[in-house]
Amino acid sequence: MEQIYDVLRKYWGYNSFRPLQEEIITSILQSKDVLVFLPTGSGKSICFQLPALCRQGLTLVVTPLIALMKEQVTQLSKRGIYAEAIFSGMSSLEIERKLDNCAYGPVKLLYVSPERLQTDLFKLRAAEMNIITLVVDEAHCISQWGYDFRPPYLEIALFKQKIPKANTIAFTATATKKVKMDIQKRLQLKNPLIFTQTFHRPNLVYWVRKADHKEAQLLKALQHASGSAIIYMNTRKRTETIAAFLNKNGITAEFYHAGLTIADRTMKQEAWSQNKVRIMVATAAFGMGIDKADVSLVVHLDLPCSLEAYCQETGRAGRNNSPAYAILWYDLQDIALLQQRWKESYPTIEQVRNIYQHLVNYYTIAVGSHAFVTYDFDLEDFKKKTGSYTKETYYGLKVLESEGLIQLNEAYYQPSKIYFLLSRKELYAFQMLHPSYDLLIKGLLRLYGGTLFTPYGIIDEKKIAQLIQYMEAKVHEQLHALHRLKIIEYMHKKTNPQITFLTPRYLTAELPLRIDKIEEKNKNAYQQIAAVIQYITNDRRCRLATLLDYFDEDEFICNKCDICKRKSPQMVSMHGCGTTADVSVHSMAST
Ligand code: ADP
Repeated sequence: MEQIYDVLRKYWGYNSFRPLQEEIITSILQSKDVLVFLPTGSGKSICFQLPALCRQGLTLVVTPLIALMKEQVTQLSKRGIYAEAIFSGMSSLEIERKLDNCAYGPVKLLYVSPERLQTDLFKLRAAEMNIITLVVDEAHCISQWGYDFRPPYLEIALFKQKIPKANTIAFTATATKKVKMDIQKRLQLKNPLIFTQTFHRPNLVYWVRKADHKEAQLLKALQHASGSAIIYMNTRKRTETIAAFLNKNGITAEFYHAGLTIADRTMKQEAWSQNKVRIMVATAAFGMGIDKADVSLVVHLDLPCSLEAYCQETGRAGRNNSPAYAILWYDLQDIALLQQRWKESYPTIEQVRNIYQHLVNYYTIAVGSHAFVTYDFDLEDFKKKTGSYTKETYYGLKVLESEGLIQLNEAYYQPSKIYFLLSRKELYAFQMLHPSYDLLIKGLLRLYGGTLFTPYGIIDEKKIAQLIQYMEAKVHEQLHALHRLKIIEYMHKKTNPQITFLTPRYLTAELPLRIDKIEEKNKNAYQQIAAVIQYITNDRRCRLATLLDYFDEDEFICNKCDICKRKSPQMVSMHGCGTTADVSVHSMAST
């Protein structure tokens, strides 16, 4: 095994392996199926990149994240390792060229999304490649019981039939016993060797507090400490408000959420990674693939939807092994909100049936009428006529879609969005100078108000046209013109939202829903939020011990969390957050 040390030194310049890396690499080289549970930041990439260099053939890496693919290919090429990535947005010529390089050229690693495995072209071309190892990153996405289920992952097992010689290596961070079993089953791993590294980091202190004024607590904590931090919030709007609040109080902060353009996201992430801003206020969209070692604090100002998500997020603190803190502040309303969100996101069978009934009534579809009929789905009109469009409807339609009864096109999920690039004052000056746009701008402000001054507010061109009595085409034309003039940023939906009925209409009572499956999914999601509520409201058991228990790991009492400290109340110093003064977490978090 001298060879793997030589490769490690030659390409990475490291002299030794981190825990488990050598064992994992050796198993991969022995062509075994391997299942690895490594917390993020433990050095997962080398585990599959290094063996790829030691053997003839191609390692195929399936990952859901385009940003991660790009980053890894760049890093590998800097080390002189030939890797490729194929993702959406590439021309077919470019894809063909990359596939040729993988089939006949010197490429060692190819990164693709799970969706790519489903395409006929890829299936065909994969058969020509000498794929020796299949790596499945973020493998928990294959399980419905995890917190980030992605249906295309289910296709991986089917795809494996095309590459019978390859061994499969699945990676994920923390997972419960149920998810671990599910990954093995769904990826059809053969007698896998399982490697688990606890997510427990001795340098990370968990702290949970009920607080009435969470923002004030946050400000106080950040004023006492220094160093990089991430603040997790549940809504896009709140990330913006909190970032503005911090900046106003002299603490540099950026916000980040999935509603931003990719360019904006990259810019903000870079500013934070390079310590040009200290705080990143973000939704759960921020995190995967982030490798910043000196984050000394991760705060949750809203409740996470599962302990899996919570541990992934808190695990981004203290990767440099310096003392770090995971602080969660909550109030009673947060618990009610979490329950409410679950209720809205997981409609009951009864609600799903009702939504189907509303749909067929709305389109006046007769029982047994033909399948594959597509209709425009005008949300405003639907709301008006049925009097029922709520969050439950949105999620209920998704259930009908996953049950194969209807299909919603992309425009349903991606409505048009805009935001003003000018301040209110500048906008007013523009209106004075360009009266032809006055009506449209007034209409936008009347319908959506201040939400359009930060990225991005959802708009409905039809609704605007109705209000200002323009033809819809004129609204589009003027919005495009304002975009060209750099007055607004306009992300235009490509088509109208549409809904296709994939089956003849059923009698609602006979709707073929997989009731057990839907109910189990709802129950599972409920158990996840119940575990979060239990974790925060418990005031007896060590926080770390509770988390370890949830992930079926051995019990360990940390003696550092708020509960352990309350039982044995000496102060803990906050020097991990870089402050010179010896601020106590206890006083900081409990006031
Ligand atoms: P993960 O994918 O688990 O989040 P990475 O593979 O990105 O983690 O590794 C995290 C960091 O640790 C990277 O900067 C990587 O270069 C470094 N690293 C990995 N293995 C070693 C090692 N054996 N010695 C020193 N540093 C390592």
